Amino acid sequence: MTPDEFREAGHLLIDWIADFRTSIEERPVLAQVVPGEVRAGFPSGPPERLATVDELIAQLDTVVLPGVTQVQHPMHFGWFPANASLASVLGDLVSTGIGSLGITWQSSPALTEVEEVVCEWMRELCGLSPAWRGVIQDTASTACLVAMLCARERASDFSQNRGGLQGEEHPLVVYASPQCHSSVPKAVLLAGFGIDNLRHVDVDPVTYALDPSALRAAMAADAAAGRRPAAVILGIGTTGTTAFDPIAACVEIAQEYGAWVHVDAAMAGAAMLLPEMRHLFDGIEGADSISWNPHKWMGTALDCSMYLTRDPEHLIRVMSTNPSYLRSAADGQVTQYKDWGIQLGRRFRALKLWFHLELDGVDAIRARLRRDLDNARWFADQVASEPGWRVLAPVPLQTVCIRHEPPGLDGDALDGHTLAWLDRINSSGAAFMSGSMLDGRWMVRVSVGVESTERRHVEALWRMIRDAASVAAGETAPA
Ligand SMILES: *Cc1c(COP(=O)(O)O)cnc(C)c1O
Repeated sequence: MTPDEFREAGHLLIDWIADFRTSIEERPVLAQVVPGEVRAGFPSGPPERLATVDELIAQLDTVVLPGVTQVQHPMHFGWFPANASLASVLGDLVSTGIGSLGITWQSSPALTEVEEVVCEWMRELCGLSPAWRGVIQDTASTACLVAMLCARERASDFSQNRGGLQGEEHPLVVYASPQCHSSVPKAVLLAGFGIDNLRHVDVDPVTYALDPSALRAAMAADAAAGRRPAAVILGIGTTGTTAFDPIAACVEIAQEYGAWVHVDAAMAGAAMLLPEMRHLFDGIEGADSISWNPHKWMGTALDCSMYLTRDPEHLIRVMSTNPSYLRSAADGQVTQYKDWGIQLGRRFRALKLWFHLELDGVDAIRARLRRDLDNARWFADQVASEPGWRVLAPVPLQTVCIRHEPPGLDGDALDGHTLAWLDRINSSGAAFMSGSMLDGRWMVRVSVGVESTERRHVEALWRMIRDAASVAAGETAPA
């Protein structure tokens, strides 16, 4: 494709994206396809003749888009807000369009230095002290793995330069709440700690936040048994209920054992942009590492996960391998982001964050987050004041956990009812919410915060929920 052909096709595709975003509300939220349906829309073998852009656009319209669950849809209340602001989409396009190679500073000085600039801006916008240095990782899962590798090497005094964990006499132990995200046990396993050395510490039964006294007891028991408490992973805005593990109290306990504290604020970290919400993050300055995803609620297009460390030297020592062909005269004066994470080749991700901050503007981003907090509180108030309905956990941010509990329904019958009304709405395509287990029973998580979700959408959702639950209650009621 020549640049001129690119120009022509590019205009068509930008128009196509803009039209898609404009008309998204007409589409079902949950993809209405059966397994294999998208695949069946493609030829079974590789293409044998050249296609036109118009043909590909037709294929996008008829085969691809129907197979996309529309998380940019204003009636999407599932999982978490996975916003992809159009300003950041443009930055992402520029990143790929420049086609730079991010392997060392020298291979693209701008890639490194723009990332330094935007990470520094983000640190400041979040109210974090200058003690932190940032890097953009692809996802919070990778960031958590990086944190666990740093924790492992600190606790084992760089066992990687000897026999690795296999040569360690004292098992290293990691602590997290049972409410932690699935990426947490994954990182612990991949970092070689082993499932036997991951402790799920009890949570408070009302707030679902990690109980510091249980953490203290677990660490003391391990230490007494000759094991080494190596890391604590705190969920700041846990996946199930957006619980906030108490950072300050846990940091204090962890420090007694020299254990690493990683703060997983993947979803909730965006709230640090709001000065009035920072009290939820009290004590965060005592952590060793933080990850949070601008690619969730804040709205920078996936993938864009901030990893902040207080000790870049340690990170570099864990990650650096430095083969001679990657050395350059500028080493020592510059940041080599290849030594700040797992990948060598990196994308120019800072561009989409830069575009997002400059073109949408920090004030507008903050106003949107505040709108979402308001909408979530409004929704929680409606549910809490409606007979037969319950809000099951505190609502510190934008996630509301609810259940309809009609008289006479409990146990498995209640689960059946919850899944029935949820499925009724989700399968209709009119809105989407996630079902999730809490204390062994199904509940429904309503995660507010899509860029296009206004109050009227939340009001429509509440009407839809009550209707679906009343129909489902009629169907399951004993005759
Ligand atoms: C979404 C989420 C993750 C995983 O984020 P990825 O960037 O998809 O890896 C981890 N922890 C929490 C609390 C999350 O909300």
